[in-house]
Amino acid sequence: MDESVSFACIDKIPFDSQKEAATAASVAQYQHGSKLKPYKCRICKLWHLASRYED
Ligand SMILES: [Zn+2]
Repeated sequence: MDESVSFACIDKIPFDSQKEAATAASVAQYQHGSKLKPYKCRICKLWHLASRYED
C-alpha cells in the first residue's frame, strides 16, 4: 500500500514551498481554469498541487 502511494508522488511536480505551489496553482487556474490546491506531501516532504478530485 505504501509503495503505491509513493509511486503516485512521482507523477507530481514538487515545489520547495507553499508559496511556490500557490503561485503555480494561480497560474494554472488563470491559464486553464483548473482549481488546484497546494498540499505538503508526506512522502517527499515537498509541496504538490492537488486537483479538487484528489485528496
Ligand atoms: Zn511528494
